[in-house]
Amino acid sequence: MTQFNWICPYCNQHATITHENFSSDYHSFEKGNKDKALRLITNVIVCPNGACKEYSIDAYLFKEISIAGRSQKHGSPLLTWRLKPNSSAKPFPDYIPNVIISDYNEACLIRDLSPKASATLSRRCLQGIIRDYFGVVEKRLIDEINGIKDKMDPLTWEAIDAVRKIGNIGAHMEKDIDLIIDVEPEEAQLLIGLIEILLKDLYITRHERQKHLESIIGVATQKIEEKSNGSK
Ligand SMILES: [Zn+2]
Repeated sequence: MTQFNWICPYCNQHATITHENFSSDYHSFEKGNKDKALRLITNVIVCPNGACKEYSIDAYLFKEISIAGRSQKHGSPLLTWRLKPNSSAKPFPDYIPNVIISDYNEACLIRDLSPKASATLSRRCLQGIIRDYFGVVEKRLIDEINGIKDKMDPLTWEAIDAVRKIGNIGAHMEKDIDLIIDVEPEEAQLLIGLIEILLKDLYITRHERQKHLESIIGVATQKIEEKSNGSK
C-alpha cells in the first residue's frame, strides 16, 4: 500500500501511516440479500506516537463485482462507520468551558446520524463561544455575530460570516437558535470545522499567550531579584 498522512483522533498528532501501523481486511457476503454481492471492509490504524499507541477502527460497506473471475469492491462506499473512536471530535483542553465542549462533542457524534441535530448543537456552541469569550449577548445569533466583528481577527470573522451565508444554516441564524432545520452532513461538518477553528484561535491561542507572558514575567522578575540581591 501507499503511505498516507493522518491525524490521530486521540492525541491530535500528525503521522505518516504505512503498513507498519495499518491493517485492513474484508468480509464478502450475499446470502440472498436484496443488494446482492457486498463487501464489508474494516481498517485499523495504530497511532505511531509512542506516548499514545491508540488504535482507530473504521468500517466500509461496498458493492462487490466480479471482473475476469476476480471479485472486487465497486464504486464509493454505500455506508461508512467510524467505530473507534465513534466520533470525529478532536480533543480540546479542559480550560475551555465544559458546556461548549460537550455541545461540540455531541455535534460531532451525531453529524452523520442526524445532521440537523448536529447543526443545531453547533449553532448553540457558536453562540456559547460568542457569549463566553466576547461577552456579547443578543437575541439573535446574527446580531451576536455582527457584534463581534470588530473584536476579532478579520479572516476568522469572515469564516463565521461565510458559514452564516450558506443555505439553511445561514437563513436560520437570523431566527431562533433552537429551531431545528434540515441540513446536509457536509453543512453540519462545515459548522463543526468552524467551531474547531474558533476554539483553537480564541481559547487555545489566549491560553498559550498567557502562559508565554507569565513565563516572561517570571524570568524577568527573577533577573530583577538577582540584580537587587547582587547589589546589596
Ligand atoms: Zn495518537
